[in-house]
Amino acid sequence: MIQNVRFPGATAAPQSRRVDLNQVLSATAAEAKSLAPKLADHVEGEVLVKLRPGMNFDGQSDFAGDYGGQVEEHIKMGGTMLQNFNGDLMRISLPEGMTTAEAIVAMGKDGRVEYAVTNDRISIPDTREVPFSPEQLGQAGQQGNQPNEGPQNLPKDLSPKLWGMHNTGQESGKVDSDIDAPEAWAITTGNRNNVIAVIDTGGDYNHKALASNVWTNPEDGTHGFNAITGKNDPMDDHYHGTHCWGSIAGNGTDGVYGVNHQASVMPIKFLSNSGGGTLADAIKGIVFATEHGARLTSNSWGGGPYNQALKDAFASSPALHLIAAGNDGKDNDGSPTYPGSYDLGNIVTVAASDRNDRLASFSNYGATSVDLSAPGVAIYSTVTGNKYKNLDGTSMATPHVSGVAGLIVAQYPGITNEEIKARLMNAVDDVPGFHGKMVAGGRLNAAKALAPDFGAPGTPGAFGVSEAKAGRVQLGWVASGDDGAEGGAAARYEIRYSDRPIAVGEPAEGEVSFDQATAVKANRPGQPGAAETATVNVPLSGSEKTYYFALRSTDKVGKASEVVTTSAAVPAAQLAFDGNAEGSFTSSSWAQVDDAARGKVWTDSPNGDYANNADTAVTSKAVSLAGMSGSKLIFDAKYATENKYDTVKAEVSSDGGKTWSSEATYSGSSDWKQQAVDLSKYDGKDIQFRFRLTSDGSVSGDGFSFSNAVIAGGN
Ligand code: CA
Ligand code: CA
Repeated sequence: MIQNVRFPGATAAPQSRRVDLNQVLSATAAEAKSLAPKLADHVEGEVLVKLRPGMNFDGQSDFAGDYGGQVEEHIKMGGTMLQNFNGDLMRISLPEGMTTAEAIVAMGKDGRVEYAVTNDRISIPDTREVPFSPEQLGQAGQQGNQPNEGPQNLPKDLSPKLWGMHNTGQESGKVDSDIDAPEAWAITTGNRNNVIAVIDTGGDYNHKALASNVWTNPEDGTHGFNAITGKNDPMDDHYHGTHCWGSIAGNGTDGVYGVNHQASVMPIKFLSNSGGGTLADAIKGIVFATEHGARLTSNSWGGGPYNQALKDAFASSPALHLIAAGNDGKDNDGSPTYPGSYDLGNIVTVAASDRNDRLASFSNYGATSVDLSAPGVAIYSTVTGNKYKNLDGTSMATPHVSGVAGLIVAQYPGITNEEIKARLMNAVDDVPGFHGKMVAGGRLNAAKALAPDFGAPGTPGAFGVSEAKAGRVQLGWVASGDDGAEGGAAARYEIRYSDRPIAVGEPAEGEVSFDQATAVKANRPGQPGAAETATVNVPLSGSEKTYYFALRSTDKVGKASEVVTTSAAVPAAQLAFDGNAEGSFTSSSWAQVDDAARGKVWTDSPNGDYANNADTAVTSKAVSLAGMSGSKLIFDAKYATENKYDTVKAEVSSDGGKTWSSEATYSGSSDWKQQAVDLSKYDGKDIQFRFRLTSDGSVSGDGFSFSNAVIAGGN
């Protein structure tokens, strides 16, 4: 409970307040108590509040006062960013005695508020300095394995320490485990009109290898922004931001060439001389960069939890944002690292690899949440005071990708974010060890990313079904090439399936669009004429059912071939239970709803988010597993719950519903995906099963939806 809530500067009569504070706080006390221990490291006693669209700051200037607080900052946005953000953001300090958790819960229920979130503390990832002898620095350009022989556009004085640009096997590296920078420089070395923001600890704009490539503010002749002081001087008092800059656009002094030899780099400082900062200052940095014309932002920082305000800031900026995956050596799919794990079309998340194309031991990875890898071990670049350092980190990998994005923009002005991203991701050098660790499955290649494109791939040939068994359909087709006679293999295949016909164009009644149909994993395209196959696991059914399949190939710039389609009658499976049959499930709170692409779907919360302190279930009818062996519960599910705190369990009873035991747990989020639960220990028994959702006292989500639930035998 809150005591001694003060209302500083309050002169209006209490009844004019829109909030009865004591009533609100006592009504939300339990929820706030549950929320408090979940909050990440943040500035306690502060909240960031986004007002609802239409509730602008000037009209609601008394909002903070209603809670006894004070507006510390109105984070003003303009132009496209304001339009996209669609609401006003304020940093509010709370009155003595009110906690951040209490304010978040109470303000979250205020009709004027879209959300209230923490002002999180943010830091640069743990960056490791690589032992480095000063003697080597003096001999840059003279050491290594014939550093000056190679591609035509290899600068004669390129430091052999820059293995990421050009790897001749120096220092026990693997020849050509590099981004093929010299080959890219035959196409372009960058452009001074191209503005690339480095949002970090600032940048040393007096460094001799950087000074020629700094952005200058046309308004006042300054070179960037310091979000901590609010002044336009981004001088680096650490070294991290300066190091990132050198990889993006070192001018070649002392042999240190960035991916761009010329560019306008806009240093933004929001991290202090010890590498720490706040989320509010990061947002101000994104706003400054966007409003001053940055086409790209390079972000070698993170580690905080999900924060809606930061996600919205990135999403609202029309720039493309390159973001480090993090240095914890973990799987970001299971344990997200933000901002890199935000599911946004205009961010690219970068892992770090070494001079032998091995993923760095410290690098985070993620089959769906990390995009590609780039050189990030023993990276030689600029630091403050006209010096250089060798550093390790996804912080160092990210600027390589930012740099290549810069070359792409220089070569193809007017290119969209989607096209830049497609060029970065589809033109990687394939690295088998990276498959399943990141979306692109390979390492950045600047030359391939820059190569011209001559059109969409050809239509795949002879697409058809070669075999259809219960639950499994085999597809086959002939690869078509990219760019006509000039091109080789296309970049990737996209395969979809549905139990409804998949439209090639706009779907008619009873059809689904290509994007609505369920995506299936596919191999990389072979050379034109290659015979290709894919196996699709379709839902099991108690009766014969027709399934529809669609295929297209895309090239490295994201251009797609025509869509080809086929279908197959999939035979019935031997099932102990078919959830699509009438009367298969009962529930007092879960309900069946119509899903545009999937038909009838069971969900726990048909009318929005599930409740706090929920305990609800949907229960099957009695199922006999007599004569079954290797019984499996198989179903399609999509879910979004508060990770770890709110769960859905698949529970089984073999005593007529008296006791239930949990056989699988689902928490966090997943898109539609087939799930299987081993029930073989119940073979021969009579059972019931249920999906049961339980939640704690704060934070909720969409909940759990499933369809096509069956119990089948083994194999
Ligand atoms: Ca090379
Ligand atoms: Ca919860």
